[in-house]
Amino acid sequence: MKRLAVFPGSFDPFTIGHESIVRRAMDLFDEIVIAIGTNTNKPEYFPLKKRMEWILEAFSKDTSQVSVASYNELTIEFCKSVHAKYLLRGLRTAADFEYERAIAQVNKAMYPEIESVFLLTSPEHTSVNSTIVRDILRHGGNARQFLPGDENLKNKIIHEAPLYSSK
Ligand code: ADP
Repeated sequence: MKRLAVFPGSFDPFTIGHESIVRRAMDLFDEIVIAIGTNTNKPEYFPLKKRMEWILEAFSKDTSQVSVASYNELTIEFCKSVHAKYLLRGLRTAADFEYERAIAQVNKAMYPEIESVFLLTSPEHTSVNSTIVRDILRHGGNARQFLPGDENLKNKIIHEAPLYSSK
């Protein structure tokens, strides 16, 4: 039986922190589905299609193990639909832990077959988050070191980023 994990998030945009979690998880799981949830109230910064495209590009050498999907149902319903036994999340802070604990316990109650697996963020990525990266991009700042992939992919993301307009 293949060990299939879903890594859910909004990934707006996918950062070097997300990339690191997936790369480390590749040693643990046979397949990882990076799943972009569209059922949140968060307004999107980058279009879903672009977010999916860039994640695929970051893992273009790993397509036998890593894939990308989007969903708009509950995360746990998506996990059921792809028969995933594992739900992967990253833990940055104690606040992340409290939030994730509650969600994981509720998910387990709804789908007892699911096991949530948490990887601690690498120290150098603890303060990287999509909100900060969006703010840098919005103001035309240099977010290069926080973006995934090679220089070409980083350039694409920077080039496509909507700039802040005071109007
Ligand atoms: P959400 O909207 O669900 O918080 P995110 O895209 O912000 O989605 O995060 C998805 C997952 O990636 C979460 O488990 C989060 O803890 C993890 N994550 C976010 N940033 C980092 C980082 N810098 N290092 C490691 N994990 C991270």
